[in-house]
Amino acid sequence: MTKQTDYLIIGSGIAGLATAYFLSELGSVLVLTKGEVRNTNTYWAQGGIAGVLAKDDNFESHIEDTLRTGAGHCKEAAVRQIVFGAPKAIKFLKSIDLKIEKEPMLEGGHSKARVWRSSDFTGRDILEVLIKATQKKKNISFLEKTEAVELIVDEGECKGAFIRNEEEEKMEKVAAKNTILATGGLGQLFGRTTNTLGSGGDGLALAVNAGLELQDIEFIQFHPTALAVSSNGRHFLLSEVLRGMGAKIVNSRGERFLKKFDPRAELAPRDLVSRAVYVEELTGPVYLDMRHIDPGKVRSKFPNIQKTLKEHDLDLTKDLIPITPVAHYACGGVPTDLHGATQLPGLYAVGEVACTGVHGANRLASNSLLEAIVFSKAISETLEKSVLMDARKNVNIDSLESPAVVIEDINQVKAYGKRIGQIMWENVGIVRTAEGLAKAKKEIITIPARDYRVQHRQLVAYKIIEACQARPQSLGAHYMAKEII
Ligand SMILES: Cc1cc2nc3c(=O)[nH]c(=O)nc-3n(C[C@H](O)[C@H](O)[C@H](O)COP(=O)(O)OP(=O)(O)OC[C@H]3O[C@@H](n4cnc5c(N)ncnc54)[C@H](O)[C@@H]3O)c2cc1C
Repeated sequence: MTKQTDYLIIGSGIAGLATAYFLSELGSVLVLTKGEVRNTNTYWAQGGIAGVLAKDDNFESHIEDTLRTGAGHCKEAAVRQIVFGAPKAIKFLKSIDLKIEKEPMLEGGHSKARVWRSSDFTGRDILEVLIKATQKKKNISFLEKTEAVELIVDEGECKGAFIRNEEEEKMEKVAAKNTILATGGLGQLFGRTTNTLGSGGDGLALAVNAGLELQDIEFIQFHPTALAVSSNGRHFLLSEVLRGMGAKIVNSRGERFLKKFDPRAELAPRDLVSRAVYVEELTGPVYLDMRHIDPGKVRSKFPNIQKTLKEHDLDLTKDLIPITPVAHYACGGVPTDLHGATQLPGLYAVGEVACTGVHGANRLASNSLLEAIVFSKAISETLEKSVLMDARKNVNIDSLESPAVVIEDINQVKAYGKRIGQIMWENVGIVRTAEGLAKAKKEIITIPARDYRVQHRQLVAYKIIEACQARPQSLGAHYMAKEII
């Protein structure tokens, strides 16, 4: 059976839902999402959204901070687009009822406090207002627990996707005039990550299988302050805003050690702090320490973080919190132009799956929620023009056959996923070596991937390793050592 829609959106995070909201003015929208609608990384974002709104701040400073953190590898036009687009993006979120606090917060790499939040779970608040706003739109329908298995490419154009309900074997077809990849990140390819279980880089595999190249995927950002213990396959994040408020990072002897690595210490960019914590961890546990900060202020600013820590018998105001660096964010992805368009006609990419060039070799904190909103608007503006020009005709894919894919038992799929995570964490993690990369490549290809989900992860892992090998010198978040420290 073929479903028909004007716009097929794959993913229900900030990027997918914001794009759905804007495109619903132009035609019918189908949002497809693996798992339930809230199973996204957006749900877990804590810090906030960056933007120049304060009188004592200025656009050039946000641009400079982004370019510097990106290690000179950013596309400046894309950076300018998000920085200048921030006031409108934040206004949009307010217009759909996001309650933004009056004072911005400071995060590492920013030379001013310019991270706007609604609470210490800003991502969850954003997702809730977007769900409410999109559910009100008659033109938008949702398909949960359904994944995109393959993009439909016909006559050189993307015409939708082959999809599969997670509980069924059979595949269905969605015919779409335009398809928007909003599948998020790839943290789950690494054994330790802040990312949700659905973040295994599916969108990148779909794009590669459709004939596209990936860009900058060696630049994986590792976050230095995740809770050292994992639960439900991910590590809980301790937001950078905690450090912005004065949290210290100390070793098992209670010593602050970051100044040895960078004079900005706790507020240095994430890659530097992650590497320093990684090195220090080799000799003992590392902690986040907020005990010197007014407990009343900590409790009122971080109630949700406190609540999660309580489940682990920890309290920010009284305890040293054990931390570890983990895989967090993919700076690269499917390359797009400034309108979110990929090289494949009919296919757009937005959010973490896309490589717009904004983040270069390393992402500045809180620029990703911003990028998702600014580029979802850019996509809708571009598609509005094609509607006005009536540039796209009806799509007919009736004659196309669904691909034959192997579906194995989910426990087998998970076991291979775990193995890939182990190989990537051990050899393609915070500190990389030529030897480790070669070993990872060899081990990744020996995984007998028959199920399409394992094949997708294997493919993306392989592409990341290849990208790392193609860049023997360190840059930004990609750190090459002569030997493992
Ligand atoms: C713990 C944490 C904290 C963060 N804090 C901040 C912050 O404070 N500020 C900031 O700017 N950024 C932050 N980030 C980064 C930011 O949250 C993400 O980059 C952003 O939310 C990604 O949005 P997205 O819509 O691209 O992807 P997601 O929100 O991850 O959504 C991806 C969607 O795609 C779906 N999907 C995936 N594959 C398929 C498939 N094959 N078929 C169908 N659906 C599929 C998923 O189910 C999901 O619905 C944080 C990230 C994490 C993990």
